[in-house]
Amino acid sequence: MGSRLRLEIRKNMETGSLILGGLEGKRFPIDISVSQSALQIQSPDSCDKLHLPQEVKLVPSTCRYVQHVSGEGLHVRMKAHVDYKTENTSTVKEILKCQEEYTFYCQSCGAIIVHQQQFLRVLPLPTENWSSLVEEWCCHPDPFANRRCLPKVNDCFLGDTFLLVNKANISDPPGETNEMSAVPHPVDANVSKSKENTKVVCQRCKAVLGESMSSDTIQYYITEIMIRPSCHAYTMISRNQFVESMIVQILLKFSSSRSTFRFCVQGQNGKLFLLLWLLNVDTVLIESTSSGRNNSYFFSGNASSDSSQSLEVQNCARLLYIPCIDKSHPELEDKWMNETGAHSLTFPSRTCLELILLLSLNNASLPHSLRFMNEWQHHFPMSLLQDLSFQ
Ligand SMILES: [Zn+2]
Repeated sequence: MGSRLRLEIRKNMETGSLILGGLEGKRFPIDISVSQSALQIQSPDSCDKLHLPQEVKLVPSTCRYVQHVSGEGLHVRMKAHVDYKTENTSTVKEILKCQEEYTFYCQSCGAIIVHQQQFLRVLPLPTENWSSLVEEWCCHPDPFANRRCLPKVNDCFLGDTFLLVNKANISDPPGETNEMSAVPHPVDANVSKSKENTKVVCQRCKAVLGESMSSDTIQYYITEIMIRPSCHAYTMISRNQFVESMIVQILLKFSSSRSTFRFCVQGQNGKLFLLLWLLNVDTVLIESTSSGRNNSYFFSGNASSDSSQSLEVQNCARLLYIPCIDKSHPELEDKWMNETGAHSLTFPSRTCLELILLLSLNNASLPHSLRFMNEWQHHFPMSLLQDLSFQ
C-alpha cells in the first residue's frame, strides 16, 4: 500500500499540518525527506514520491512537532504557502441580475418553478436588526414598523437564506397541462393550503421549496431551488454538493459582512436542529484522492481516482457543530439561542437533516484525532469550491 498524504494549510497564517499515512506496512528504517514541492518516503523495499500540486510550497526547514499517531501516521507541522483561487463561487445575489432572463428549477428534481423570467428589480432585503437600528437612530417612531417588504410584479427580493418573488411571476412549466390549468391562477395549485398550510412544495417531487408569505408573495429557500440564466442549459448537481455549497456561501457571507461565526440552524417550524461555529474559511486541503474524505463521495456521486499518488486540492471551511435533535445539550442550546448572539438560519426540516448527515459524513472521513474538540464534533472539511458557474 502506498503512502497517503493529508495536508491542511491555513492560507492567511501560512501554516501547514501534514499527516503522512500508509507507513504501517513498510519495513524499517523509513527515511522521509521533505522538499519544497514533494515528499519522499524511502524504506528498504520501496520508495514513494508524493509531488505536491504546483500551487503548494512547503518550507522544509520549519518542520516541527513531529509525532506518530497510531492508526493515522506521522503528524508534522511546518510553514507552507498555497496560492489557490477561491473566486469560483457565485452567490445568488451575484447570479441574479436585472434585465436578464432566469429560470428557477426545483433543485431536487429539476422541475421548472419560474420560467424565463426577467426581473426589473433585484434588491436585498433589510437585515433582521434593521428596525431596531431605525428606532435607535430616529427621533420619531419607526415609520416602517409592522410593514413588510413584499415584491411587486417583476421584483425579486433577496434575504439571507431565501428570496421573495411575486406569484404573478411564477408559472407552470410550458407544455405541462393538467387539471391545474383549470384553476384561476396556476400558482395556487403549487401552494398547499393546509398549514402547514403555507408550505410551497414542488409539484413533481413534493420537496418543500418555501412558503407562501402573503396572497401574492412566495418565499423560496435558496437551498431548494437552482437559478440559471435561461440561455444556459440546466445541469444537474448532486443534492449533497448543492446543499454544501449553498451553506458555505451563507456562512462566508455572514462571517465577512457581519463578523458572525455562530449559527443556530432551525427548521421552518422553529425546531432547532444544529449549532454551528465557523472557525475559519481560509483552509486549503490537499489530500490523496483514495484516502479519507473521498470515501464519503459515494454519497454525492463524485468519482475519485484509484491512484493513491494523485492529490486533490480543495478550499475548505472548518467548523464545529452539535446536532440538537435529541436535546442532549439543553444549557448550551439555551445559551446560544439567547446569549451569544448566534444568528438563526432557517431551512426546510429536510434540508436541516441533510446538513446534519453531510456534516456527520465529513466528520467520519477525518483522521480520528481531528474529529472532536471538547464536546464538539470537530467537522472538517466543508468544501468552498463547489463550482456553480454556468456551463
Ligand atoms: Zn422537485
